[in-house]
Amino acid sequence: MAMIRFENVTKRYRGTAKPALDRVSFEVLRGEFVFLVGASGSGKSSCLRLILREDTPSSGNVMVLGRDLRTLANRKVPYFRRHVGAVFQDFRLLPNKTVFQNVAFTLQVIGSSRAFIRQAVPEALNLVGLGDKQKRMPHELSGGEQQRVAIARALVNRPQVLLADEPTGNLDPATSIDIMQLLARINANGTTIVMATHEAGFVDQMQRRVIELRGGVMLRDERHGRYSDTSGLPQLQPEQIRGAAAAAALTAVLELQREVGIEPTVTDAAIATASANGVADAVASSAPVPPSHSAGTGEPQHATPEGQEARPRTQPVPLVDRAEADVAELGLADRLGLGGSQDDEVGPTS
Ligand code: ADP
Ligand code: MG
Repeated sequence: MAMIRFENVTKRYRGTAKPALDRVSFEVLRGEFVFLVGASGSGKSSCLRLILREDTPSSGNVMVLGRDLRTLANRKVPYFRRHVGAVFQDFRLLPNKTVFQNVAFTLQVIGSSRAFIRQAVPEALNLVGLGDKQKRMPHELSGGEQQRVAIARALVNRPQVLLADEPTGNLDPATSIDIMQLLARINANGTTIVMATHEAGFVDQMQRRVIELRGGVMLRDERHGRYSDTSGLPQLQPEQIRGAAAAAALTAVLELQREVGIEPTVTDAAIATASANGVADAVASSAPVPPSHSAGTGEPQHATPEGQEARPRTQPVPLVDRAEADVAELGLADRLGLGGSQDDEVGPTS
């Protein structure tokens, strides 16, 4: 079932000559993890704002959860948004509210019962590992913890879709790893995720679907994509992040495999190797690093001198796909909420 569908969507902002999105079409299915990549200004945030119905297209159709957003009445938008969570680069927490109150706030706004709030908020905070910080204020938390609160807030309604607009953009590499792992786990539990990002390492290692925008035009849509194809985009991240991100992705896969009871195909040593390569590459700075082969994890990425074509050199390691296949085979899809039994639940009807 299509969770999100763009049909020939064009977005023009007032007073601008060039459209921010130019005849973009794609479809996101239930349970998918989609990376939306592209340089700054390529239209990623515009895309996510249209999905959230924070904005409307100049032409074309945006369908979310079976709803044509063009015909969705304004008064129904809050109900619609219960089903679509969102997190942002700058967290957007309410500074004068505690962690608990921040997560509870959206529920209060939509009129949830106090009993439900008392149950759902701690559940969401436990899910993101912050069960013990409910009384803290946002300024008492690290950036990573603040983003976890934002994720808990986005998930507290159990939305079918989670949108993440550069969620690791303000975080250091190690913290970004934690957040990426968390998002991978949330997706493994059945939530469809669309994530706009610049983090090449995550995209390369996760081997998930990649939709690339350039100047508002969709350049590619690959089922198992990489951050940069043959296009040599200039915004590739430094090797340090790339290595750390590689470790993160592998750790996330390992956790997923353990969680669903699959024989792990990722070793702790492989994760350490990925991590170490990042550090080594950082030391070597811009000098190209000779290839070193490490079985099972693919070759480490190379430093790419600016201006040269950034051709990916890793072999595909479809670990996540393999995990997905195993999940299906073991009949775990339903338990993880990946089954089709909720197909008639297409969002708000009131
Ligand atoms: P990204 O998230 O990929 O950086 P955006 O969607 O934010 O890209 O922006 C796409 C293009 O639309 C850019 O050229 C940007 O300047 C323009 N744009 C975004 N929001 C507005 C706005 N509210 N008014 C006018 N132009 C905008
Ligand atoms: Mg943006």
